[in-house]
Amino acid sequence: MALPEVARRTLIGDLRARVRGTVIGRDHPEYDHARAVWNGLIDRHPEVVVRCADVDDVVACVDAARVHRPIVSIRGGGHQVAGSAVCDDGLVIDLSGMRDVVVDPVARTARVQGGARWADVDAATQAFGLAAPGGEVSETGVAGLTLGGGLGLLQRTHGLSCDNVLSMTVVTADGVVRTASADEHADLYWALRGAGRGLGVVTEFTFALHPLGPDVAAAAFVYAPEDAGAVFRSWRQLAAEAPPTIAPEFALWALPPVPGLPDEIIGVPVALAFGTFIGAPADAATALEPFSRLGEPILDLSGTTTWVEAQSQFDFAIPDGGRYYWKSHFMDEPDDATIDLIVGHAARRPDPNSAVFVRTLGGAVDRIGSDETAFAHRGARFNVSVDAIWSDPALDDDSIGWARGLWNALEPVSRGMYLNFAGLGEEEGAVGGLILGAHEERVRRIRRTYDPEGVFESAAARP
Ligand SMILES: Cc1cc2nc3c(=O)[nH]c(=O)nc-3n(C[C@H](O)[C@H](O)[C@H](O)COP(=O)(O)OP(=O)(O)OC[C@H]3O[C@@H](n4cnc5c(N)ncnc54)[C@H](O)[C@@H]3O)c2cc1C
Repeated sequence: MALPEVARRTLIGDLRARVRGTVIGRDHPEYDHARAVWNGLIDRHPEVVVRCADVDDVVACVDAARVHRPIVSIRGGGHQVAGSAVCDDGLVIDLSGMRDVVVDPVARTARVQGGARWADVDAATQAFGLAAPGGEVSETGVAGLTLGGGLGLLQRTHGLSCDNVLSMTVVTADGVVRTASADEHADLYWALRGAGRGLGVVTEFTFALHPLGPDVAAAAFVYAPEDAGAVFRSWRQLAAEAPPTIAPEFALWALPPVPGLPDEIIGVPVALAFGTFIGAPADAATALEPFSRLGEPILDLSGTTTWVEAQSQFDFAIPDGGRYYWKSHFMDEPDDATIDLIVGHAARRPDPNSAVFVRTLGGAVDRIGSDETAFAHRGARFNVSVDAIWSDPALDDDSIGWARGLWNALEPVSRGMYLNFAGLGEEEGAVGGLILGAHEERVRRIRRTYDPEGVFESAAARP
């Protein structure tokens, strides 16, 4: 609900009096830029966006929110597909100006500010031959991704992003700056790792790092769509037998216009099987070899690349301002009927750029007990993400309908839904059972402990 005029003026006045960063109201020249997020479908009009310069600014925002009670959203990298970083008529606590990364190469840790992108982390850590488990697109924010779990190329070797967080600096609803770690506020530390919405504003993460790079070896094979079902079945076997040094992926997608690819293959539906070996390229052959036996590829894109390139290879295929609607299921091994369902539905996608991505879990993800963090999906073998991706507004209904249709059809085999891939609108009410699973009540209790007045209630209700 919009704030009454007087409350609005006092909120903005209070913020202007305390904040060192930029306070952007509706009449500010940067307002439209400040309210835009990655997903071009999102068109929300907050009352005010505060681009925080430091932790004191975040405290000022939280204090003002506690007094004036606007709707609150928190912006890290602004990439959640539901657009939850921005709200209508409320206060956006925007950390996008806080992107510092400080690496300690001896302790093998990185301190990462709450508005950093994975590109910032990869650049800083690779300078020392180290890596943090992040996502697969370097423009994505560290905060939202890590707080929701964090699937990525390193997951089966070193765990989810949240599994590699040693501590966090958090501004809680009372405006106090706290440390959340195994030793301090352990309940908050638990909840922030997997259910991290509406628990506070994380201004800094400390990650454990792992030696990797600069080069990594990857297998990447492209198949004709008519072979998709057979390749998916062989890939399922490959995934079941894969060592933890690789997190195999299968996708039904269209190749983006990568320089050097033949023109006739760009933008047409294909099937892809790929994986990156986490270790020295010289040791990759045994782990990657099974990819060459999945079927008759129409293209072999395998090779060696840098870790920084591997982490950013999809950036330009999923640009800012495109139209997106995603949702996913965690599941066990798909049977043949499920594979046929996925392949058949994918063939009917309204835009070939829409995709189905299948990611393999297990390995290090399951070395952590299911109650050790709030991430509720350990033990699932795969995440199947239905990603409607399009640019023509005329395809909005068809694209969203296509994604919902496949997601609904897969519900009987679902083990739950991934917070970070949750889309728009009606899913907002679903940040509960499907996402938090058996941890839902414990998360609610911890939210009440740290935010008894519900200052972050609106942020807690959105993915
Ligand atoms: C192109 C693309 C690729 C992706 N690839 C992957 C992937 O490989 N693996 C994966 O796991 N996910 C992936 N995702 C999903 C991604 O994890 C989520 O979109 C995630 O929310 C992005 O983080 P963000 O900081 O950019 O989000 P934002 O949209 O900024 O924030 C999302 C929510 O997180 C919370 N939040 C953000 N920052 C803070 C903070 N500092 N303190 C407290 N709460 C905060 C807020 O509640 C906010 O509403 C991808 C998304 C995109 C768009």
